[in-house]
Amino acid sequence: MSKKQFRTESKQLLDLMVNSIYTNKDIFLREIVSNASDAIDKLYFRSLTDTSIDIKKSDYQIRITADKQAGTLSISDNGCGMTKEDLENDLGTIAKSGSREFKARLESGADVDVIGQFGVGFYSAFMVSRKIVVESRAWGAEEAFRWESSGADGYTVSPCEKEGNGTVVTLYMKEDTDDDKYSEYLQEHKLRALIKKYSDFVRYPIRMTVTSRRLKEGSSDEYETVTEDATLNSITPIWKRPASEVTEEDYNSFYKEKFYDFEDPAAFIKQKTEGMVEYDALLFIPQRAPFDYYTRNYEKGLQLYSSGVLIMDKCSDLLPDYFGFVKGIVDSPDLSLNISREMLQQDRQLKLIAKNLEAKIKGRLLELMEKDREKYEKVFSAFGSRMKYGLYADYGTHKDALQDLVMFRSSFNGENATLKEYALRMKDGQKDIYYAPGDSAEQVSMLPQVEAAVARGYEVFYLCDPVDEFALISLGEYDGHPFVNVCSDEAGIGTEEEKESVKKENEACKDMLTFMKDSIAKVSAVRFTGGLKDHPACISSGGGLSANMEKTLNRMPGSEDEKVKAELVLEINLGHPVADKLKALYEQDRDKLASYSRLLYYDARMISGLPVDDPADLSSLLIALMTE
Ligand code: ADP
Repeated sequence: MSKKQFRTESKQLLDLMVNSIYTNKDIFLREIVSNASDAIDKLYFRSLTDTSIDIKKSDYQIRITADKQAGTLSISDNGCGMTKEDLENDLGTIAKSGSREFKARLESGADVDVIGQFGVGFYSAFMVSRKIVVESRAWGAEEAFRWESSGADGYTVSPCEKEGNGTVVTLYMKEDTDDDKYSEYLQEHKLRALIKKYSDFVRYPIRMTVTSRRLKEGSSDEYETVTEDATLNSITPIWKRPASEVTEEDYNSFYKEKFYDFEDPAAFIKQKTEGMVEYDALLFIPQRAPFDYYTRNYEKGLQLYSSGVLIMDKCSDLLPDYFGFVKGIVDSPDLSLNISREMLQQDRQLKLIAKNLEAKIKGRLLELMEKDREKYEKVFSAFGSRMKYGLYADYGTHKDALQDLVMFRSSFNGENATLKEYALRMKDGQKDIYYAPGDSAEQVSMLPQVEAAVARGYEVFYLCDPVDEFALISLGEYDGHPFVNVCSDEAGIGTEEEKESVKKENEACKDMLTFMKDSIAKVSAVRFTGGLKDHPACISSGGGLSANMEKTLNRMPGSEDEKVKAELVLEINLGHPVADKLKALYEQDRDKLASYSRLLYYDARMISGLPVDDPADLSSLLIALMTE
């Protein structure tokens, strides 16, 4: 029997597979099984119109048989089968568009691992096999044929015996090497795991005869070996089952098993759509962040299936970064099994799905916030930082998705509040939404400006997460209310009269205030304020960049060479005795006024949670005061 040669392009791909430079060898089983499933599909669809095809739907199956002695793995199906011509034409060429692209990428010198999950088709079996035999009988045909190949040197096709329609693919496993244990693929647990992972939702049962040892009936110490037929796949995935048949408990256990969590999810989302784009989605909102969530190693993404066959484990394009904590699956018959990562990014269907899902997730989170605040608080404490970062990233373009989901600690009751809640509670005539940044709620609540604002009945957001202030600044305003830092010179809390008298005083003492500013040399201005309660002085920021942002920005990696500087203003409480003391010193003892100015400056920094910038100076001022 003469050997036939593969076509050139097939030959190249085959070489790659035989030499198995592609690292994810496991996928061969998925490819062979999905071919079997396609073959059954074909016959089943034909049977809908051709009454001579009398196979019951429940009789269709895929069977896996491992023979450890012979070192073979067979995958058989009772689908449409192949004629002699089919065997020659279909198995001798690169049918899959994915394989073609795979090859093109390799030729362009791309890294094999980067190329990722291609549907590389039937040839992928050569990664693990030294020889492949395909015996097939097409539906209705009298004869069966056997296709055999050991790889690049060609293949033979000859008649053979085979009962019934369908195909048996027999893989003769390669010998084990130090790096690759091909014999593993003959072990029951490995096969089970691979089917579960890649082919769990194939629409036909994938069966295997398994043997197990168990206690003999009625005996306490005698064992017997039993062989039985096991179905390895779930067939109908949970997301395809009607919601009325599935309990919350079922969804929860599915989530925990599939996404390796020990806790129930905070909420799940089930979506089925038809029309513009057809898909089923089952998403979960976890209660707790995975340990690597806030590291670079965290990979967001949803599992992507095409009619029950896993095509990608983490499809990142389906989730925006700020919802990257969501887990789940999307199953769409509109996506092809052969699609590559790069092709997916361009896929219009996928973009549409992603857009729908984002709206769904937002809606579910809002619902959770409304109906189960405690749970939402939990979710927010785990993932809120990322959502706030989402407001700040991309220049606030995700405002609509996020502004009603974020919360900040509030002076109202010490708990988290949303922007909407704040806006609803605003005082009559209040225009601005006030906030103050700092390291902890406790420290912020003690800031002189915060104390003063709260004493006047204003609510203040305590921004303690470094990202908070950036998020609010990117937002700019909520529902027409600008965000204003109470520690900035724009805050202007107080009545018009108060403001008028402060203004007068500042003008009257202009020279003294300039003298103080020059003595401190680190502030852009010194002025009186009427807005403080008990504290003698505080640091405010002018010009947009707050002292807190200065601190955050300068802590970021890469900021060593180029420190940013906030513009600081020293504000002195006009109602505090220290104000009169300063005025008196300006007349009597300018040296002392210079020292006191610096002392006040250091004091104000400390109370504002800023580090003392010149501890040696502070120390010598204190000692001078003590030894006076
Ligand atoms: P693809 O499945 O994308 O077409 P493959 O290389 O995996 O690419 O398979 C090539 C072709 O061989 C298939 O299109 C199909 O026509 C045929 N084929 C493979 N396996 C089977 C099978 N079990 N039953 C019937 N036809 C098969």
